[in-house]
Amino acid sequence: MKNDSKIARRKLLKLGAVALGTGIASKVIDASAKKAQAKETLIALQKLDQNSTPDEILEELIAGNKRFVENRPETPNQDDRRLREVSTGQKPLVSILGCADSRVPIEIIFDRGIGDLFVVRNAGNIATPEEIGSLEYGTVILGSKVLMVLGHENCGAVKAALEGKPLPGQMGSIVAAIQPAINRANKNDSEEFYLETIKKNVLLQVEKLYSSPLLYNLVTEGKLKIVGAYYSLNTGEVIIIDQE
Ligand SMILES: [Zn+2]
Repeated sequence: MKNDSKIARRKLLKLGAVALGTGIASKVIDASAKKAQAKETLIALQKLDQNSTPDEILEELIAGNKRFVENRPETPNQDDRRLREVSTGQKPLVSILGCADSRVPIEIIFDRGIGDLFVVRNAGNIATPEEIGSLEYGTVILGSKVLMVLGHENCGAVKAALEGKPLPGQMGSIVAAIQPAINRANKNDSEEFYLETIKKNVLLQVEKLYSSPLLYNLVTEGKLKIVGAYYSLNTGEVIIIDQE
């Protein structure tokens, strides 16, 4: 009886060793698959640099959003190698003015990583002097060739501007910056009014960016493309809204 239990224990230990061995083998396979995937991502990203055109960069940005929407992210440039690579300098090819809304995390929705995007966020994605200055830095100094203003579905800042109620503290300055967009939206269709105001607000902030001579000059020289876009909270999709 004693011997039997010993044999049984040995058998169990053996089985454990086999199971452990299998675990190691599958981990090795996992690691090599990840390595191959990382290599592919690197190849895809190497297509883009400061010599790429704004259109090529915008296309790649939207391709990243498509990967996010289709739930097949590559999570590029999110490893320790990239961390060290950009520790001494950054060359983000895209600058973005987005809303501070917690449901619009910029790097995640574009499937990008460290050092890829120069991001400025505030409630309502409004272009105040500080934001314009930051985006001038992102483009003129750091070399971004695409500048996107990204509004989104169910934006609370736009909603507050539509409601027009007095707000405490300094929140009133946000709705004041959005106010002109309300006047531009078509009031005949009340259901679409909120959505349209969100989009008009994006275009209003794009206009404010064009008021910067530095940004305007980059655009006329073909070195920068400024675009407005809309993010759907439901689908995760980003749609360009100011192009013909
Ligand atoms: Zn918002």
